[in-house]
Amino acid sequence: MKTEEKVKCPYEKKCGGCKYQGIPYEKQLKEKEKKVRKLLKDYGKPEPILGMEDPYYYRNKVHATYKHMRNGDIAVGRYEESSHRLVPIESCQIEDQKADEVIQTIRKLAKSFKIKIFNEDSGYGLLRHVLIRTGRKTGEMLVVLVVASPVFPSKNNFVKALRKEHPEITSIVLNINDKKTSMILGERNIVLYGKGYIQDELCGYTFRISPHSFYQVNPVQTERLYKKAIRLADLKRKEKVLDAYCGIGTIGIIAADKAKSVIGVELNPASVKDARNNARHNNIGNITFYQNDAERFLNEMQEQNAKADVIFMDPPRAGSTQSFMASAISLNPDRIVYISCNPETLARDLEFFKKHQYTAEKIQPVDMFPFTTHMETVCLLTRRKHLAKAPY
Ligand code: SAH
Repeated sequence: MKTEEKVKCPYEKKCGGCKYQGIPYEKQLKEKEKKVRKLLKDYGKPEPILGMEDPYYYRNKVHATYKHMRNGDIAVGRYEESSHRLVPIESCQIEDQKADEVIQTIRKLAKSFKIKIFNEDSGYGLLRHVLIRTGRKTGEMLVVLVVASPVFPSKNNFVKALRKEHPEITSIVLNINDKKTSMILGERNIVLYGKGYIQDELCGYTFRISPHSFYQVNPVQTERLYKKAIRLADLKRKEKVLDAYCGIGTIGIIAADKAKSVIGVELNPASVKDARNNARHNNIGNITFYQNDAERFLNEMQEQNAKADVIFMDPPRAGSTQSFMASAISLNPDRIVYISCNPETLARDLEFFKKHQYTAEKIQPVDMFPFTTHMETVCLLTRRKHLAKAPY
């Protein structure tokens, strides 16, 4: 464990993103362990949390918002927590450092190219946000310029100037967001340079990630999380596997050569498109992806009396739904590997599984988000043996 602590972040108070700023990393891990033990005490005893060697600069996805100052300068930073007040930030201790440099360069270029910054109140102006994704292993970098209108004056020269200062940029996309919304991205993407997405590697497989797709923000810990999840699934090449809330197909693709077949289900169309491409690119022939609401998809599987031997489920922070879980149980899986980014909703969902004959055999917290209060937890649920048939 790296014991050296950086100086306290100067933006800590105003930004509010890192509740554990100023707290030694070891202590942060203890706090998280305490929290998960308390929340899950009725379901099992969590293993010690898997922490990072170096807990800084881990985020591969960085978002910044720009603002015109009264003196004509442009400020860039993040919104203060639960507000729309901008906190100017030059560099952040948990974000990719190169991405933070690009954000500053765009600030400088926006001024010299006289690009109008979008004003949320008046609805006037062009540049709303910048979103950067980096591939930790591949070194690729995608810059998404979120603008209120597709008419971007001197865009070719802007792209040229940006690439000149940052040859590490592998793609630049214009995203059109002309709605009055707090969502960062609009629907439409126009590729200005490169492929329009990045590729990254996890557990020996290559994944493409488009602007709208979900990708775990901490690639170092993601590998550890996925390896753990797949080990807990204990696959023997004969199982029918379901990867629910599968995003760009990462877990299912990594598990595919250890299983008979895999089905992935995901709501976001951009992620499903990436997932299908990822399967093809990695030569995985025994996986099929469906774009659907996970609950609806599982309800349909239940109606068709379908079965699955192992289910991976990785829902968003709100957790899963009772209807999803009831259908999941009806598929009669031997093992369910629940990957959670919110121990509170995990506790609620484990209660449901406990009542329906599934016991948490192993609970492994993983620190995916150092300096924040968030964490991931992988939980292996197995069907209680004496029950010959599923309760649904
Ligand atoms: N397993 C993936 C993604 C996990 S994040 C990974 O590790 O990268 C959760 C995913 O659930 C997101 O991709 C999100 O788009 C998807 N999602 C959210 N609500 C959903 C729903 N109702 N049905 C299916 N997928 C959903």
